[in-house]
Amino acid sequence: MSDANVKKTVLIADDDATSLLLMRQVLENFDYNVVDAKHGGEAMERYYAHRPDAVLLDLHMPEKNGLEVCSEIRVDEAGEHIPILIITGADDVESINAAFSAGATDFLAKPINWHLLGYKIRYVLKNADTQAQKRRAEDLAEQLGTVVENSSNEIFLFGENSLDIKYANASARKNLGYDMDYLSGRSLLELVSKSEKENFVMQMEPVASAEKKEVVFETYLQRGDGTGYPVEIRVHRTVQQGAPVHLAIIQDITRRKKTEERMRYLAYYDALTGLPNRQFFKDQLALLIDMVKRSNSKIAVLFIDLDNLKRVNDSLGHSMGDMLLKQVAERLKNCIRQSDVVGKMSRMSSQSMISRLGGDEFTLVLNHVEDRKAVDGVVKRIQQSIGAPLQLGGHEIVLTASIGVAFIPDDGGDVETVLKCADTAMYNAKKAGRNSFKNYDKSMEKRSLVRLNLENELRRTLDNNQLIVHYQPQINIETGKVVGAEALVRWQHPAEGMIPPDTFISVAEEAGLIYQLGSQVLDNACRQIKAWEREGIELQQVAVNVSSVQFQHPDLFGSIMDIISRNGISPRKIELEVTESALMDDGEKTVQTLRLLRSMNVKIAVDDFGTGYSSLSYLKRFPLNNLKIDKAFISDVGGGRSGEGIVSAIIAMARCLNLGIVAEGVETAEQLSFLQKQGVKIVQGYMLSKPIAADQFAKFVQRNSAGQKSY
Ligand code: C2E
Ligand code: CA
Ligand code: CA
Repeated sequence: MSDANVKKTVLIADDDATSLLLMRQVLENFDYNVVDAKHGGEAMERYYAHRPDAVLLDLHMPEKNGLEVCSEIRVDEAGEHIPILIITGADDVESINAAFSAGATDFLAKPINWHLLGYKIRYVLKNADTQAQKRRAEDLAEQLGTVVENSSNEIFLFGENSLDIKYANASARKNLGYDMDYLSGRSLLELVSKSEKENFVMQMEPVASAEKKEVVFETYLQRGDGTGYPVEIRVHRTVQQGAPVHLAIIQDITRRKKTEERMRYLAYYDALTGLPNRQFFKDQLALLIDMVKRSNSKIAVLFIDLDNLKRVNDSLGHSMGDMLLKQVAERLKNCIRQSDVVGKMSRMSSQSMISRLGGDEFTLVLNHVEDRKAVDGVVKRIQQSIGAPLQLGGHEIVLTASIGVAFIPDDGGDVETVLKCADTAMYNAKKAGRNSFKNYDKSMEKRSLVRLNLENELRRTLDNNQLIVHYQPQINIETGKVVGAEALVRWQHPAEGMIPPDTFISVAEEAGLIYQLGSQVLDNACRQIKAWEREGIELQQVAVNVSSVQFQHPDLFGSIMDIISRNGISPRKIELEVTESALMDDGEKTVQTLRLLRSMNVKIAVDDFGTGYSSLSYLKRFPLNNLKIDKAFISDVGGGRSGEGIVSAIIAMARCLNLGIVAEGVETAEQLSFLQKQGVKIVQGYMLSKPIAADQFAKFVQRNSAGQKSY
């Protein structure tokens, strides 16, 4: 809102009613608001009520005279600068002086020239406006000065048409370590680091040549002590009183630079190992692919996946796992540092890159590969290096890695495709047994298609409840009696024939079907126990396998108990076979589920014992009844492979833990008699019977109890 648009208010005070009226008329003609008062007291009241822009006071008034009113207004803060005119006698010099010393702006001599009064007021009001503006500008300048001086930015003001410093604020002086005496008159260029001077002059050019009003760029300033710091500088050019003046606002960007660096690091490097991360790997590989397109050589992408990191994490804790990953990263780095590894592959060492994709997955990119075979050597070296025993917190750990290799351009021309191929190859390597490697080939895709079909068919078979269960007798060798059975699932495929569980259990696990499968097998076993009971066959228990994946289900306990009670059998008749690795997987939750099951009298056996990593103390945590010695150990008994030692050790351990023992996979008389000597009572194996259908099982038991020993 500009002052001109607002009607101004003039306060007039005179005890002479006629002159008051005349003043009002004149001023209203000049478009002023007029407020009048008949004496000094009223004048003050009106002053406070109307806050006039100008005041016209007769010198002689009752109550308070003009001088008194004038002084009083001047004391008021808002009245300090408003124009006050006092009407005096024509030659009354004394009064005129008194008026000025009371703070009057001007005086009007009687008789008043009515014609000029309006102009006079207009003039004093305009003058007052100008004064007020000037005062505001001064205030602002003072404020600005303080702001500039105290700004955290470094601010420089230069002389006319130059970069000679006229003023540098506190921040600038402090950061540079120079005082104003030193800086005064020096060119800003003197403060720029030597290596940056040329760039500085170039960047300044548009402003220097008046082509631009402002330039912003980054440079380095040098301090009094010789150190430098990065800054963002903004130089602004204005013209003041005809001459160009420059102002520079400089921001110390040391922190920003550091943050930028850190951000770049975080975005591109793995914090744990310091290796390039997935993003960096992808970016770099994309660049390499571009380069290689113009040459004849190949790029090899190795997908490296540690086989047993999860075990370490679970048994020794994640911080140990992290330490292990760091060591693996070091080993991988060393692998490509060794020049003999790259052998004939010239220039390769400088072009190879190791990254951590995440978890226990690493990639190695080898560039300029002329011969696919040459990569095999690198793979072997990596496996050797990873496989060397590691010392970690008093434990000796042996890691293995599965490695898949894919080549550009043979297997794909872009990052995603080739990474997927290498991953597929790795997956196949892992399936072929740990610590192996595979080069990608297209048939792997076909295999995964086959797998997908298998998954769909398995889903259908489960929905129709068409899986069958075979039972393998467990025999007490002291009495020769069949005391139990292990339920083993079978899939009678219409086209493929009998598919063994080793093929489809993993499919069920990965496809999320294992919970349903496990429930069906348990239900089948429960119904079978009932059916056999009706035929007079009483077993101590039937063992049912439970996959580690089933333990991830929140209600495994509930559903097991539900199936058992629905079939009306005693929970004691069921033994759940849990693999050693399932016990290792999710310790706390598994322990809890098993305790609940034990509390309901369901039996628990450790299956495949000896193949995992479990220690005595670890096993103690679990509420176990039986320990099954894995057939791999039994098959080493006899035939001079000194499996006897291991088996006796396992037996001793089981006894120490107060566990019953079941030996499985007994195939020879030699094995049987060894176990007998060791005091093992329950055995299971082809020598006694293969897993058989339920009706055959009943016949087997009947033959058996009729005295026909099965061995
Ligand atoms: P497992 O639990 O170790 O089962 C024992 C396996 O050893 C069975 O193989 C059995 O047929 C086989 N076997 C028994 N005696 C001998 C012997 O004297 N010599 C040899 N060489 N093998 C013998 P199968 O039936 O092929 O089962 C393989 C695996 O599939 C099982 O190993 C088990 O881990 C899994 N499995 C079977 N049924 C189920 C099930 O219902 N649920 C789950 N989760 N897994 C199951
Ligand atoms: Ca088993
Ligand atoms: Ca087993």
